[in-house]
Amino acid sequence: MVRAIVGASFGDEGKGKITDMLAKDSDIVVRFQGGSNAGHTIVNNYGKFALHLLPSGVFYDHITNVIGNGVALNVPYFIKEIKSLTDRNVPAPHIFVSDRAQLLMPYHILLDTYEEERLAGKSFGSTRSGIAPFYSDKYAKIGIQVSELFDEDLLREKVERICELKNVMLEHFYHKPLLVKEELLSELHSYRDMIEPYVRDTSAYLCDAIKAGKNILLEGQLGALKDTDHGIYPMVTSSSTLAGYGSIGAGIPPYSITDITAVVKAYSSAVGAGAFVSEIFGEEAEELRKRGGDGGEYGATTGRPRRVGWLDTISIRYGCRVQGATEAAFTVLDVLGYLDEIPVCTAYEIDGMTTTEFPAACVLEHAKPVYTVLPGWKCDIRGIKRYEDLPENCRRYIEFVEQEIDTPIKLISNGPGRDDIIIRGE
Ligand code: GDP
Repeated sequence: MVRAIVGASFGDEGKGKITDMLAKDSDIVVRFQGGSNAGHTIVNNYGKFALHLLPSGVFYDHITNVIGNGVALNVPYFIKEIKSLTDRNVPAPHIFVSDRAQLLMPYHILLDTYEEERLAGKSFGSTRSGIAPFYSDKYAKIGIQVSELFDEDLLREKVERICELKNVMLEHFYHKPLLVKEELLSELHSYRDMIEPYVRDTSAYLCDAIKAGKNILLEGQLGALKDTDHGIYPMVTSSSTLAGYGSIGAGIPPYSITDITAVVKAYSSAVGAGAFVSEIFGEEAEELRKRGGDGGEYGATTGRPRRVGWLDTISIRYGCRVQGATEAAFTVLDVLGYLDEIPVCTAYEIDGMTTTEFPAACVLEHAKPVYTVLPGWKCDIRGIKRYEDLPENCRRYIEFVEQEIDTPIKLISNGPGRDDIIIRGE
């Protein structure tokens, strides 16, 4: 059985925790897109960890973790992240890396940084991890596959071509130091030696595992609204964040993905620029930001304060639809316990018209939120284990949202820890 766990909005919905929790019963956890440009926060018996590139199954000895072909693989970062776990007494995780994954190179990070500097105030809010240049190169067919590291002649030829192309930009456009062929080649040799023990045909491995009836989790990074095609373009990421891409980025049949859990946070947050209809500001925002998540709403990778707002069921219903969600996990609900009343954005007003459809990004810029206000529950719900034991107004909030987003809410997360979870129907 293959389950995808994906974000219904901008990311930071708490996918790390849900994946970590569901991973317990899985055999394999797979990253299928993105790179180390975002993070998952996981709190477990070893402590609190922010994972950026490693799949969330790395804390379990019975799980094999896979970095799929769709991922942007920063090799030194990968090795560093494994070390950051073993340094804190986590046993060395079982990990395979796809022989078809491509390498995120230092020049991708440099080009990302130079471009952000050049655009200054008009930038796309990149985390400068090299993701956009990496995926551009992949589709321009000048990327480097992991398997190519083991073919010296091919590698030399490739390095030559890359240097020729990149140096034109570096010299004439950015006026920055040039790439040096021999340096690049020796960098690639060091990557080859570091990654060799992990390399495998992971698509074949996963297809065999599916045939053998193993439980596989596909772990999405960011969320539906950051998807290159269906998100708020151009304020999106450069890989697909949708469950459907799990098939491509892991190399498994599309029909093998039978369960799609969209993670939905009980309020909204976003990093970087872009339309955010239900955003709130001032003291009201500061209060939510401070109380939010586990220790405040600040980016796991960048430390940037996140923009916050009320739940927007128009965008979430859309997010669940493009994800193909078969169920939702509703997270960080405990944080809202301080509110007398909770506004939920249930429609948009665009140029004097009210709509409940999520429009294309350039239209979304003109949308104003229309709120439905629900009563708060005014107490701490952490520690509650059964749905029936939640305060009535809390259940009303959940059931209202469930109806608005047109997706059954099966899991409710009421705290950052592994056990802070309510499974509906149990
Ligand atoms: P991800 O990228 O989707 O995994 O999200 P992040 O890990 O960046 O952000 C989620 C934050 O919320 C982390 O700090 C989690 O520890 C925390 N978190 C997850 N679920 C809950 C919850 O139910 N309640 C609270 N208070 N915090 C949570």
